[in-house]
Amino acid sequence: MSGLVIRNLCVTYGSGDRSVPAVRGVDVDVLPGATVGVAGESGCGKSTVALAVLRLLPRTAQITGQLQIEDEDVLTMRWGRLRAVRWAGASIVFQGAMHSLNPVHRVGDQIAEPILLHASPPGGAGSTRTRVDTLLEQVGLARQHARSYPHELSGGQRQRVMIAMALACDPRIIVADEPTTALDVMIQAQILRLLGRLVREHGIGLMMISHDLSVLAHTCDRLMVMYAGRVVEEGPAQEVFRAPRHPYSVGLRAAFPTIGDPGARRRPHGLPGDPPDPAALPTGCSFRPRCDVSEGRCATVDPVLWPVPDVHTGPRAAACVRVLSPTPEPEHGNVVEETDTL
Ligand code: ADP
Ligand code: MG
Repeated sequence: MSGLVIRNLCVTYGSGDRSVPAVRGVDVDVLPGATVGVAGESGCGKSTVALAVLRLLPRTAQITGQLQIEDEDVLTMRWGRLRAVRWAGASIVFQGAMHSLNPVHRVGDQIAEPILLHASPPGGAGSTRTRVDTLLEQVGLARQHARSYPHELSGGQRQRVMIAMALACDPRIIVADEPTTALDVMIQAQILRLLGRLVREHGIGLMMISHDLSVLAHTCDRLMVMYAGRVVEEGPAQEVFRAPRHPYSVGLRAAFPTIGDPGARRRPHGLPGDPPDPAALPTGCSFRPRCDVSEGRCATVDPVLWPVPDVHTGPRAAACVRVLSPTPEPEHGNVVEETDTL
């Protein structure tokens, strides 16, 4: 299958004598032209998945599982091939464009660099300049900006430059790791719409990472929610957002105000506590200590991702015992009887 295929990906960081299982058995498919969102709070393993796609993890990380881009096995690929794949196969857009751009080089030269190094067939200086102009135009920047230095651009413009660089060598996959987190809400929406449009037009598969479920629901076809190194819910993006089934997705949705819903900011919601330290996971379900609907069985059962029953609109799955076999609600009559006897 072409596009990005990830199967049973596990990443464990060795940190001193501690071993940190940051990603524990993740499966992802990103077909050409499809957009897949990955949501979850900080520390849930999202960036680790993103870095694994291009084998950018530190040496201390142990990776197992399967990872293919356009049917090529990334984990066993030779170094020379990997360098080519990093631009032409898959490219990555990081958060905080200011830090990824070189402050002393003009942005046009920075966009041209991967084209000169990796584009095939290689063109001359003239064709590279034309390509840079085209890319700037595609991301909505005037071609004069090729001569600008990063500090002369706004945050949104710099992030557009990053997107132009990611598109430079016609990749089949783009991984965007919190690409707009540092930007204000209006600019965020513009950049995400732009990214969504460009990948659709070019038939690129997009894996978009964010801690904000509503941002992903508005830009992606499918949505995956990660918690403690695993996918705990997945399905069609709008539907997972509208009616999340895993208690963690419910909390995550409530924790962020919905774009365009002014009332949401005033509603006191939240997700108490933090995700667990991957080196000291609770027994049973990892979300249990923060879950307000947990039951006795959640202390011993570590639920796997399983198809959600009674869904007719597209495949959905969740990793929660309550979703799969709900506990019957106590009958109303019994409650009344009890109060009567007091
Ligand atoms: P996210 O992007 O969802 O915030 P990360 O993938 O960055 O999550 O991190 C997942 C977990 O792995 C966290 O507990 C983090 O502390 C740990 N981690 C990340 N990088 C390293 C590293 N180089 N060495 C040890 N632990 C790490
Ligand atoms: Mg991250």
